[in-house]
Amino acid sequence: MPSARVPTGVRSLDALLGGGLEPDGLTELYGEGGSGKTLLCLAVTVRIALAGRWVVYVDTEGVSVDRLEAMAGERLTEVLDHLLLATPKDLAAQGRAVATAGALARDAGRPVGLIVLDSATFYYRLALSSPEEDAGRLALVRELAELMATSRAVGVPVLFTNQVWRRPSDGSLEPLGGSFVNHAAKTILRLDRLEGARRRALLVKHRALAEASAEFRITPTGLT
Ligand code: ATP
Ligand code: MG
Repeated sequence: MPSARVPTGVRSLDALLGGGLEPDGLTELYGEGGSGKTLLCLAVTVRIALAGRWVVYVDTEGVSVDRLEAMAGERLTEVLDHLLLATPKDLAAQGRAVATAGALARDAGRPVGLIVLDSATFYYRLALSSPEEDAGRLALVRELAELMATSRAVGVPVLFTNQVWRRPSDGSLEPLGGSFVNHAAKTILRLDRLEGARRRALLVKHRALAEASAEFRITPTGLT
């Protein structure tokens, strides 16, 4: 029997996802800068932390406490008390952080409710077209495989974000990292900016549901 979905707390997205994040697999968010990937990661983080479970957050972009505070309000301390944050500064450190995330999630002493990797491809992108490119791709593949195994083993949802590149032939936005990344993700949501605070999430891949989309809105205190 499939275990219960983990709601994001954003009603339209949860409806799109058939209830929320799958607890035994990777969910990928990709989209251009400002599309809301980090905000969504933070929104789910706040929700899980306030429910008393731990969140292991691997952050390559510099999450600000201000942004968490905007969502958590006076319960910020409660959120921070349940946050295990790693801020790797290069590819190798990101690999170690992901390994640690897996070990923490498997440690029954501290109930982990979510693993976030935002962004999975920040350092990988920097390595593209450099001598580090192959090592970067290999590291990314290894990390996602490790996260998949952990998620399946302990039933903890993993949310990772991916940046995009523009295909020169038709101008389309494509996720980075090649086919393995999209293969590793059980569910893929593409986020697009609409006008102003409006954003659209397109369900690109899902085990059971057909391609569909939902809209949400960025507000000063999070997503609605
Ligand atoms: P990137 O690929 O650059 O990491 P992203 O998809 O993660 O982008 P978010 O950081 O989630 O995008 O930002 C979504 C929107 O949230 C932005 O358009 C921005 O206007 C808004 N926003 C609200 N509060 C903040 C804040 N404190 N810092 C940055 N952006 C904010
Ligand atoms: Mg971001």
